[in-house]
Amino acid sequence: MKAMVLRAPSDLVLDEVARPEPAPGQVLIRVTHSGVCGTDYKIYNGSIKVPYPLIPGHEMVGERVDTGERVIIDPETYDGTCFYCQKGLTNLCPNGTLIGRDVNGGFAEFLMVPATQVFTLPDSIDDRTAPMIQVLTTCLHAQRQVEIFPGDTVAVIGLGVTGQLHVQLAKARGARIIGITRSAEKRAMAEQLGADVTIAGGDTSIEQVRELTGGRGADLTIETTGILKQLESSVHMTRFGGKVLMFGIYTVKEGALPFYDLYFKEVSLISARVAKPEDYTACIALVERGQVKLEPLVSDVMPLGELKAAINLLASDSGQRMKIIMEHT
Ligand SMILES: [Zn+2]
Repeated sequence: MKAMVLRAPSDLVLDEVARPEPAPGQVLIRVTHSGVCGTDYKIYNGSIKVPYPLIPGHEMVGERVDTGERVIIDPETYDGTCFYCQKGLTNLCPNGTLIGRDVNGGFAEFLMVPATQVFTLPDSIDDRTAPMIQVLTTCLHAQRQVEIFPGDTVAVIGLGVTGQLHVQLAKARGARIIGITRSAEKRAMAEQLGADVTIAGGDTSIEQVRELTGGRGADLTIETTGILKQLESSVHMTRFGGKVLMFGIYTVKEGALPFYDLYFKEVSLISARVAKPEDYTACIALVERGQVKLEPLVSDVMPLGELKAAINLLASDSGQRMKIIMEHT
């Protein structure tokens, strides 16, 4: 079968490799579409270490070879037997793997995965947008960690793909949304998708959020950029007793946060990592009902063989690109 193989950092080629053989408890998927994300870029350039050679790709949809059903794949595997799995925290399983990082992933014609990792897609969700359901599950899992009540004000910092999904999810929960980014295009998109107000970010954003909330600050701030400076701003634009959802992935090794403000305002910092199986069925339903729209988030569709160009596009475009979808056939 054809697959995109990463042989070493930045050495990604379209190659002919053996098709995986179905094993007990596993299902063979013919992958039809996949999404490219920032993690793929970090795997590609070597900042995330992987076993080489590796077929990356963890946002993928396809057809079960045995039944022909269209499915989305949950790339986060878990053993189902450990302390965490028994507590229902499968996303934290220490024996879990990420398909496309620890084992071969979806940038290929075929992929074999445990039968527990596949979820059937309804006909109303099209193949081109479906890979983003994986991204949506991580947003939903994160929002499950915080209460949002109708009438709450939620500030969303960063309006890339995950920011736009957070806007829609928080809107579905009845909140008033303030979207924050420098990009005028992304602000316009967020307003289309449910943001009540958008602001341009920068130094005045903290003051603007306070002005929009009677001087108090947001009940919840969702930080999606992974930039420490933005996390600091999140603390300042959140009200006393409010919460900051740290959705961006912070990889900095050192740096300071306004600790005294955290204490004095009694602001909670909340983390969330990947998603659980329950988030797949919930997200499929949210998309099927039109409560979350994925189509506007697709900025490019490219053939699988152009993955290297797609990753470079994502990296070089200073964040203006939204989701790039690879077409496998
Ligand atoms: Zn486990």
